Amino acid sequence: MSNVIVLTGAGISAESGIKTFRDSNGLWENHRVEDVASPEGFIRNPNLVWDFYKQRYTQSISVEPNGAHLALVKLEKHLGDKFHIITQNVDCLHTRAGSRRIYEMHGRLDSCFCTRCRTHFKIEDIDLAVQLPHCELCGALLRPDIVWFGEIPYYLYEIEELLKNSDYFLIIGTSGVVYPAAGFVMTAKLFGAHTIGINLEKPDNMGFFDEFHLGKCGELLPPIVDEMIKHL
Ligand code: NAD
Repeated sequence: MSNVIVLTGAGISAESGIKTFRDSNGLWENHRVEDVASPEGFIRNPNLVWDFYKQRYTQSISVEPNGAHLALVKLEKHLGDKFHIITQNVDCLHTRAGSRRIYEMHGRLDSCFCTRCRTHFKIEDIDLAVQLPHCELCGALLRPDIVWFGEIPYYLYEIEELLKNSDYFLIIGTSGVVYPAAGFVMTAKLFGAHTIGINLEKPDNMGFFDEFHLGKCGELLPPIVDEMIKHL
């Protein structure tokens, strides 16, 4: 059986009602990314950053996974260990849909960790009414478990191994501008994968796709998955 690796970006959650960056001219829910998604922004104004991620968390648990997330669950049930998702999303919708083999390379909204002792906590276990949450073990400030611009994404070693061994690489709902994820398609292609893109517009790294489907992934992905299941 072939190895199928999927990379998802903000576009896969758009039909669930979560805005992408592109929807909003490079802003994240009306905020400049330098203010809410960088270590410098957090040092400058931790109140603003915590308020922002509390809102993103509350929003993420108020929406539901869509047909594209569910199609990937179906493909994983068929392929088992031969299937993995790498996601740039932090909204946990793949997990809530039922996917299991997921690498959340930019972190997750339902988690935070201590800036001193690095202990992780679930957001649901901390008091969100407190403006700046602190670690119950060492007392230092907690921060959202999000990989900000300028920080190193999680699981890069594991991801490289997956890409080198992939037979099919699907790239769904990502603009192809945020690195290193934007370069994954090149690695997979160089190592022999068949690369398939699904996006509402042509992404910046379009040249590396063997196959490209223009449109909404909630509509396009379910029939593509059904075809793959017939052949893999
Ligand atoms: P992006 O906003 O730069 O690009 C999203 C892409 O999805 C665009 O090319 C757009 O045309 C496409 N798209 C929109 N709706 C679509 C649909 N229904 N079907 C198919 N494609 C659709 O997002 P990105 O490339 O993922 O990179 C931005 C960064 O923003 C990521 O690192 C991520 O961590 C962060 N982010 C995450 C979320 C989330 O977790 N849902 C939301 C916003 C931003």
